[in-house]
This record gives sequence, C-alpha cells and structure tokens, in this order.
Amino acid sequence: MEMQWDVILEFSDGHSEEATLSRPFKPEENLVSVLLAKSGETKFLHLDTLCCILMIPKDFPLPGKEHSHELVITVAGKRHQVAIPEDQHIKTGFYGISNEADNPYKLVFFPARGVKSREKLTPLGAILEEKDLVTSYEIEKVMEEQKQLREKRLGTIISEEHGLPQKTIESAIDAAYREGRISAQMRVGDILIESGLVTKEQVESAVVGQEKGRNKRIGVLLVEKGLITEKQLLMALAVKFHLPFIDLDTITPTQEALNSLPIDIVHRLKVLPIENDGKRVVIATSEPTDLTLYDTLRFYFQSKQYVDLVLAVPKQISAAILKYYTKNEYMVADIISGMAENVVYEDSEIKETDAVSESDSQVVSLVNQILIDGFGKGASDIHFEPGGRDQPVQVRYRVDGRCRIVHTIPRTFKNAVISRIKIMSNLDISERRKPQSGKIIIWHKNKQIEYRVEITPTVGKNEDAVLRILTSSEPLPLEEMGFSQPNLQSMKGILSQPYGIILCVGPTGSGKTTTLHATLKYLNTPEVKIWTVEDPVEITQRGLRQVQVLPKIGVTFHEVLRSFLRADPDIIMIGEMRDTETAKTAIEASLTGHLVLSTLHTNSAPETVVRLIDMGIDPFNFADAFLGVLAQRLARRICNNCRTPYHPDRKEYDRLVQVYGEAFFTKHINMPYSPDFLLMKGVGCEACNGTGYKGRIAIHELLISTEGLKTMIRRKAGVDELKTLGIAQGMRTLLMDGIQKVIQGSTDLKEVLQICRYEKRDEGSNG
Ligand SMILES: [Zn+2]
Repeated sequence: MEMQWDVILEFSDGHSEEATLSRPFKPEENLVSVLLAKSGETKFLHLDTLCCILMIPKDFPLPGKEHSHELVITVAGKRHQVAIPEDQHIKTGFYGISNEADNPYKLVFFPARGVKSREKLTPLGAILEEKDLVTSYEIEKVMEEQKQLREKRLGTIISEEHGLPQKTIESAIDAAYREGRISAQMRVGDILIESGLVTKEQVESAVVGQEKGRNKRIGVLLVEKGLITEKQLLMALAVKFHLPFIDLDTITPTQEALNSLPIDIVHRLKVLPIENDGKRVVIATSEPTDLTLYDTLRFYFQSKQYVDLVLAVPKQISAAILKYYTKNEYMVADIISGMAENVVYEDSEIKETDAVSESDSQVVSLVNQILIDGFGKGASDIHFEPGGRDQPVQVRYRVDGRCRIVHTIPRTFKNAVISRIKIMSNLDISERRKPQSGKIIIWHKNKQIEYRVEITPTVGKNEDAVLRILTSSEPLPLEEMGFSQPNLQSMKGILSQPYGIILCVGPTGSGKTTTLHATLKYLNTPEVKIWTVEDPVEITQRGLRQVQVLPKIGVTFHEVLRSFLRADPDIIMIGEMRDTETAKTAIEASLTGHLVLSTLHTNSAPETVVRLIDMGIDPFNFADAFLGVLAQRLARRICNNCRTPYHPDRKEYDRLVQVYGEAFFTKHINMPYSPDFLLMKGVGCEACNGTGYKGRIAIHELLISTEGLKTMIRRKAGVDELKTLGIAQGMRTLLMDGIQKVIQGSTDLKEVLQICRYEKRDEGSNG
C-alpha cells in the first residue's frame, strides 16, 4: 500500500511537497512534470517557482568525480551541504550531491533562480590548522583513528568492553560453525549470546557503541583528545558553515523569541530562541552538523518565518534553557519553601482555619503560579487534595492521561488555598458542605486559559478542588490524527458523502472531540454551512457556527439541533448524543439531506450499532442513514527523545500475535519471529520525566457501511456478526490497530492492552 515518492520539491515560498516525476526530468526544458502526492494533481512546474528538487539517484546519471564541497543557501533560506560536480553546463541550474549519510534523496537539482548564495566549504581540519590550533600531523592521526572507528567490528567492541580476549570470541564463533549451530542470517552478536559469553543487553549496548563510533566526527575526536576545546571547535565550525558565533552570557533572548518555541522542543533540540520579529527567528544551537535540526525548526514554524541559526557553546545553551524556561516551576517551589509552618498552636483544629487568610499575598501568587505552571506543563487537570490532620495538601497534574504529584503545600495553608480558588471562580467561600462548580479565566502570554472548577467536600472537613484546563486550541488536520493509511482513505471516503451519519465513539478522554474537529476542518469550506452544538466548545474554527449548550435555560442538545434544522445547514455536528430523542432527530436530519457527525459513549464500532437499535432507533432508518462508526482510544506515545529499538523475546512476540489473533496476524501482517524483528521502548529521560512516554497516539476501529452491513442492521444482527463482517470487509479492531502501532514503534503492547481494557473472555457475548 505504501507509495514511494520519487522527489521532494522545495518551493521558493518555503513550502515543500512530495511528488513523482510523470516524465523524466530534463533541466534544459526549464520545467518539471510531476504528480503531486498530496493533491493527486499532475502539474508542469516552471523551475523559477522552485528552490530545489531532491531526487533519489537511481535512473539518473551520477555526475563525475571532480567536484567542490559547497554550502548552498536557497532563496527560502534552506541550507544544503553538497558536493557539486564540475563541467555540468546546464543553463537553468546545477546538480549537487547531498552530504547527508542516511538521506535517500542524495541528488539535488538547484534551479539558478532559487539560489541565494554559494560558498565553498573549507574542511574543518584546514580551518583549525589555519588558526594554529592543531598541526596537520595531529589531524592526520585523528583521521586515521576515525577511519578505524568507522570500520570497527562488533566483536572488537564487545571484547574491549567486557574484557573478553579476541581469541575467545573467535573460537566461540568457530565452535558454533563446527557444531552447525549457526544459520545464515545469524549475526556475530547472536552467536556470542548463544555461546553464553555475553548477554543480550551487552550486545545491544555494543551495537549502540558501534553506531556512535561510525558517526563520530573529527571535531569531536579532537575535543576528546584534549587537542582543542569545545569552544574552539564551535568557533571553527562557525567559520566552516558561515554562521555567526555568539556568547550567550552577554545576550538576553527577547520574550517574543522565548514564547515562540515551547519548552519541550527547546529541550529536545537543545536550542535557544534569541530573537523573533515575526518574519525571522534567530535560534542558537551547538550542533551545526545536525542537518535535520534546520528542517525540524522549519517544520515547527510552518514556513511562516525564516529560521537563522547562530552557534553557541552547549553549556551556555543548557544554562539559558534552565534560566528562561523553568521560571514558573522555580517560582512555585520558591513560594512553597517560603511558606514554612511557622504557626505555633495548641489546638490544631481551630488554629489551622485561621492561620493564613486567602488574601495573603503568598497564597494569591501561589495559586496563580500553580494554574500557569499546570498549563505550561501540558496538564489537562490540576487536583488540589488536602490530606488528613497532619498531612500537607497534594497538588497533582494529569498529563497525557496520568496523574502525578507535582507540589506539596504545607497543611497550614489548605483552607486559604481552597478559599482563594473559590474566590477566583466566584463561589461561596462560607459553603463548605456542598459541591460547587465555577470557572476561572486567566490571560497568560496573550492567550486565554479557562479552568473549569469543581469543589467537592471530602472527609475530615476538607474540600478538594479539581480544575480542568480548557484552552482555545486549533483543530488539527485529518492527516495528523494518527490514522493508518487505509483508515484515512476510508474516512475521507465517507466524509465526501452528501448526507448520512458518522459517529465517533469511545469513553471520556479518548479524543473524540479532537477527531470530530479534525473532520470538520477537512470539510470546512465557504461552500458549506456547518453548525455545531457542543458542551463545552473547546476548539473553535473560523467558518463554523458553534453553539454552547446551556441546560439551565433550556438550551439543550436536542433544542439546538431542532433549531439548526430550520437554519439551512449542510453539515451538523452534535457534541454528544446523550438521549434517544437527540439520536432520533440526528438520524432524521441525516436522512433529509444533511451530513451529521456526533459522538456516543460506546466501546466498539459494532457495539455502537447494536446500542442505537436497543435505544429505540428504527433499524431501517438507521441502515439508510449510516455511513460509518469510528471507535477511538488514546495510547501513550513512546518518548521521541529516548525511544530505543529492542529485540523482543519469543514470549513477547507470541503474546503480540495472540492478542492480534493468530490467523489474522498471518493474513494481515505476516512478520515471522526473527532476529530482525524489533520493537521500540522508551528508556526514560528528562523530556518525559523518566516515564519513557510523551504525548499520545490515537488507536482506531473504523466500521464502514456496505450493502451487506445495512442488511445486517435491518435484521438487528448482534455484535459478533457485525464484527466478523466488518473485519472481512477491511475493518481493523482497536486491538489490531493498536498492535500495528506497536510494530511501527509508536507505543507498546502494555499501553494497548490497558486502553482497550483487553480481557481474554472479551471475545463476544452480546447477540
Ligand atoms: Zn524520554
């Protein structure tokens, strides 16, 4: 199914697209004829509109040996390090060969008008030599060492690391051959494990070491040998790559710059934004040789801004990140450490209540800082949980679906903190026995943050406060929702229907609203009228007419829906079908020429169909209206920063196959157990708080309407029958989709089993 795109086109306006050549590229024609991957259009593009064309050199003649190494900067600001063959004689531009090791798009054509500048790259060694930092003899020695490192064999690394003589290793391999214990595809590592000389972990670490050795650059080797300092290396690299070198101790980044890159990106890329005037953003890095860095940053700024790199010493960058980015966290900790339990009391019950008032400046700034800190850390909820008599107040954040304790506030402040929250959300501070709800709105860095507050009395005369954070977020494109390729195609297929009903189902917190908004974004054009009724409106989109339900004054889902039907809609989104009445009206609306999207709290796609019929929906009406049901869950994503491949043992592989269903696994996936079978795991790092997970990925189960399915709905078929037919016509169950994402390395089996609430006896009962 995977399509292979031949070329990447980089346009002068900064955006890029994947495409296939629809006929061979001849630069002298001054145009390129392509089939664009995204839109499926065939186009003739004039070379003047392009900065460069990246190609996989297979059918192209690779230019000859005589070439110069140059840094080419395109008019869109992108930097390419390429070897440029001499004697090209093409009027419209020139070819270069990329220096990037793992990039398949090695051949680059630069149209003449797309190039801003070309500079010859001086080898690093020559620059260092010119600066009198090293001698040519030293450089030769290091280059020899680099060559050896690149060729180092796994056996040698293991012998060095674990003190095993080379001889022992060789004789182990010999013995294995003689005894016929070796198959053709076995690797040295496997043989050594088999012989009991080393463990699997030791081999894995040696493989990592081998990779590192292969990629070790001359500069790094020189620093390791103590021949030059890190700063001297960076200054030389600055000369080589024509980048400015700055001293972060004398420069303060602007607030606009700091706001333009979030903390997680800054940590992951180890960069610091310095300036941002809306058009250009200046970013400091200490890794100019990392060619993916520029692309990642360009992608993040969506080509709306030019990215200028400057170089700085790594120590200064990490110190600056700590200084400018973790301010809120420090402030909360500072305030709390200033809140020592300095109150002397005989009777704790009485004194505690009066110890501190809610207007105390420490309490005010503490609550403010926690609200902002929670938002900054990406929490969906903040929990304030007062403990028993002698216990402090725990503050927990829920991030990516899991809670963790973040702050501990001295118990003397518990009443003051809860009272402060009540005041901020306009609640009655004297009422301490009944639950209350309200909201707080805070403006932070030009962004409105809304907190839905729920105060719940708990034992020990306490009150808990739970704050749900609602941010006015932007809808995501359908392509970024984590759909498998077949599911994405099917979704687009049913969304192009003029009328009918599409349902997105799953428990609370499974990302249904986010998915519905992504589908609306896909449908949202000036030609169609889209009405939505939601509770609450969390995502806003220009072009949609969005209504918030207010049950207290009779603005319910059902009332609003009936009003929509008189207001000339094309597409209607109902945040949730909470009752039969709403569901019936929704089906009627979809049968009278409207596309209706909604959600339901059911577990699986087939179960949804059965549930609706059980609710009293007419099976004939529903069969006519039904376009598809998408069941969804969110699994924690393995942290991108620390994800590491590993080879699972046979038991783990068998479990994976068994959960998928053995027969289906062979039919759909067919990956036998072999030494090359790798999965991913997060080893834990700073970016993910040591958990190994960061962010989430959606798992889907998409049941599409067909004639066969409609017949089954009309005769009220059970869940099992619907599921069997669904799989036969291409549906993948949540578990199947989850396991495909495990094999792709996005998440792990434990997560998938947990979010699908998998139990062995779960194999059907309803019917
Ligand atoms: Zn991590």
